[in-house]
Amino acid sequence: MEDTTNAFHRRKLFDTLSSVSAGLAATALIAREVKAAPAEETRPEQLENFKFDIENQRGWVGPAGSAKEATVAEFPVSQSIAGVSMRLQPGAIRELHWHALAAEWAYVLEGRCRATVIAPNGQAEVSEFETGDTWYFPRGHGHALQGLGPGECHFLLGFDSGHFSEFGTFSITDWIAHTAPHILSRNLGLPESAFAQFPKKEVYIGPGKIPATPVEAFRNGELQPSQAQHKFRLDKMAPRVLEGGEERIVSSREFPIQTTMTAVRMDLKPGAMREMHWHPHADEWQYYVSGGARVTIFGSHGRVRTEEFKPGQVAFIKQGYGHYVEQIGDQPTRILILFNSGVYEEISLSAWLGGNPGSLLMDNFGIAEDAVEKLPRKTAGISARRA
Ligand code: MN
Ligand code: MN
Repeated sequence: MEDTTNAFHRRKLFDTLSSVSAGLAATALIAREVKAAPAEETRPEQLENFKFDIENQRGWVGPAGSAKEATVAEFPVSQSIAGVSMRLQPGAIRELHWHALAAEWAYVLEGRCRATVIAPNGQAEVSEFETGDTWYFPRGHGHALQGLGPGECHFLLGFDSGHFSEFGTFSITDWIAHTAPHILSRNLGLPESAFAQFPKKEVYIGPGKIPATPVEAFRNGELQPSQAQHKFRLDKMAPRVLEGGEERIVSSREFPIQTTMTAVRMDLKPGAMREMHWHPHADEWQYYVSGGARVTIFGSHGRVRTEEFKPGQVAFIKQGYGHYVEQIGDQPTRILILFNSGVYEEISLSAWLGGNPGSLLMDNFGIAEDAVEKLPRKTAGISARRA
C-alpha cells in the first residue's frame, strides 16, 4: 500500500547488506546510494490528498431521493472505507439489494427510516431508525430501506471497502431484468408474460408509500426473528467525557454484529484539540457534521500535511499515520468517525512518553531532566482550550 520511494528501497538495501559480509561489491553499492541521497532530501515526496467535499457534489438525483458517493473513484486515498450521503423522501424505497464487497454502516443525520435485512442463517429483522441511530449490515446481507417521513430522511453510509460501489452492489431489479423469462417463471411462480411489467433496469431509489405502523408481518410467518441486532442507538449511549469534549466509541464490544468497523461520534468544544496519536491497525475516515477543524497528518520521512474541514467534508487518515485535530471556530465541532476494524486501538504520544524512563527521553531529545519532568505522563485524549 505504501508508496515506494527511493528512500524505502535504499533502506531495504541497507538491511540486506547488513546481513551479509560487506564485500567490495557491497561497498560500491553503498557508495552509489550515499551519493544519490542529497537530491532526494531536497525533494521530499508529498503526502497525497486526504480531503474530499462529499456534500458539494451533484451525485445521483431522482424524484424519490439522492446519493453522493466518496469511493476510490472520487477520493483515491480512501481504499479501505467509502461513504455515501443518501436522502430518501417520505415513502421512498432504497430497493432490495446486497453488497458483495463490503459491510454497510449508517448513521441517521435527520429524519426517520425503516430497514429490513435478511441474514444467511434465515433470520430476518425490521427496525426503525431516527436521528443518532446506526445500523450495520454484514457483507452480503440482503437489505432495503424506506423513508418514514414526515420529512426527508438523511443518513451517512459507510462501507469497509473504498471499492464497494463499482460492480459491488447487487440489486434485485437488475438481476430480474437480466434473467430469462422461463427461468423467472420457474423460480418465482408467475407466468412468463408477467415479467414484462417488471422494471427493465435497476430501480436503486424509487417512489413508494409510507409503510404502515405497526410494522406489517413478514410474508413468511414462520421466519425466525433476528437474534443478532443490526441496530445500535449511538446518540443514546453514555459518552466518554474528556476535558475538551466527548467521545462515543462503538466497536464490536458494544455492538457485536459490527465486526469489521468501529464508529465514533466525537464532539469538540471550541478551542479543543484531539491530541497527537495514531491507530496501529486501522485507517480512519471522518465526516464533519458541524463546526470545523484543522487536521494535520504525519506520514514519516518529514512528510506532513494540514487541511481544514467544514460540514459535509471527509478526511481519510491512513493506518499508523500520526495525526491531531484542532477545533476551529466559535461553535462546537461534531465529527462522525469510522475505522476499518471492529476493535478500537490508539496510541497517543503523551501515553508513550509516560511509558519510558526519563533518562531515555533526556538522551533522545537532548534535554535536561527538569524539561522531561514537564512532559505529559498520560493522554488527555481531547484537551481543552489553552489560555
Ligand atoms: Mn446498502
Ligand atoms: Mn485518530
